[in-house]
Amino acid sequence: MVIWQIVIRLAHDLAMLSFYILVAIIGPRLFYRHGAAMSQSIEQISSQEETQVIDAIDVWLRKEVAHQVKHFDHEDEYPHEIVAQMKDMGLFSLMYPIKYGGLGFSASSYTKVITKLSETWMSLAGVINTHMMLGQLIERFGTPEQQSYFLPRLTNAELHGALCLTEPDAGTDLQGIKTHAKRDGDRYVLNGSKMWVTNGMYGSLYAVLTKTDPSAQPAHRGMTMFLAEKDTGFNVDGKLKKLGYRGVESAALSFDDYSISADRVLGGVEGKGLQHAMGGLELGRINVAARAVGVARAAMDDAVKYAQERETFGKPICEHQSIQIKLADMATRVEASRLLVEQAADKYDKGERCDMEAGMAKLFASESALENATEAMRVHGGYGYSKEFDVERYYRDAPLMCIGEGTNELQRLLIAKQLVKRSPI
Ligand SMILES: Cc1cc2nc3c(=O)[nH]c(=O)nc-3n(C[C@H](O)[C@H](O)[C@H](O)COP(=O)(O)OP(=O)(O)OC[C@H]3O[C@@H](n4cnc5c(N)ncnc54)[C@H](O)[C@@H]3O)c2cc1C
Repeated sequence: MVIWQIVIRLAHDLAMLSFYILVAIIGPRLFYRHGAAMSQSIEQISSQEETQVIDAIDVWLRKEVAHQVKHFDHEDEYPHEIVAQMKDMGLFSLMYPIKYGGLGFSASSYTKVITKLSETWMSLAGVINTHMMLGQLIERFGTPEQQSYFLPRLTNAELHGALCLTEPDAGTDLQGIKTHAKRDGDRYVLNGSKMWVTNGMYGSLYAVLTKTDPSAQPAHRGMTMFLAEKDTGFNVDGKLKKLGYRGVESAALSFDDYSISADRVLGGVEGKGLQHAMGGLELGRINVAARAVGVARAAMDDAVKYAQERETFGKPICEHQSIQIKLADMATRVEASRLLVEQAADKYDKGERCDMEAGMAKLFASESALENATEAMRVHGGYGYSKEFDVERYYRDAPLMCIGEGTNELQRLLIAKQLVKRSPI
């Protein structure tokens, strides 16, 4: 029995001492030290192991996290201690390759963890999502030197990843970005601004989309991605105030004659930046959809519970037909969203093109989360509008998932384009 299985088995049996202590102290460190040797013998985790991991994370969330969420959300405070526990537990290494010390999770298994985290607090998924996307970018497109230099340090959470695509004047239309990287010998000099960067303040390795040839036609041929670390000229201009998705920081950054070595161009060649960004967004969209399933399910669970507790006209409100219809629709949306996420993640894992499936999952799940949050609020009546209940947070968190990783308007365009392309007459 491989060590990972032993760790999981023990963690499961000792549920209350939990995964946290065992995986925290034993798991990632063992993998990290012995990763190369063990990579021969460890397969993808089985569905039984996957269930045990999710159960163990569930225990951790209920015991260590749930009671603190209101505070961090209401104060918009970064949960340093919780993030440190996530690092210790190995959650930063979930999708990283075993040969670099990671846990080698498939997208399918990873999305289940993301949904579980989001049922308790969606912001926690944001802490690891761009970190995971950056790892996938380097794994898929990086040079061998970039892979061996960065992936172990991202895996053991010495580095925390972030993605810098959006700018004050360009989000959906990434070909309209203005951040410019000018070649200067064996270095480049970057100038420009980025906005809404998740992990922007506490991150330490940033994939930065730039223009190396602003006159290129089409524009994407002149776009290049850099792997940047904080140094002179790399400015964190502060965190942005938000409706929801609080606690985790969304930052504005600027580059002021920031000098970076040419060997930090992702993949080593100019002109592939937009292609890299789009490649990373497939996983990002699946992840946003998985988060949306978590929020939609949390809203449903809270509504189902409250509907049995609250009585009007001499009976629990769950016995009124109009409330039953809401609950039934909420449950159906959760299951349909979950299945769309599973389908997209499965295609991603098989290395198949999945932009349409990821787009559908993201579109449907995020709109479902928004609807479920609104309906849960209605089921709670006046209490749904108070800060006392979590449904007001779901209502503030859900809209982000309709915007992030490409707005739902854009998803509809992409889905329709693919639909026509895949069904030629
Ligand atoms: C909390 C938060 C965290 C984020 N994290 C990150 C991050 O870590 N890294 C990062 O790079 N970005 C991040 N973003 C940015 C996010 O990806 C962008 O906000 C999103 O892509 C939309 O871009 P925009 O805000 O510039 O809107 P715009 O592109 O200006 O769009 C405005 C409206 O026009 C619509 N629209 C635009 N073009 C079309 C079209 N062709 N057809 C139809 N409708 C269209 C859009 O759907 C939208 O409704 C984050 C955003 C938020 C709010």
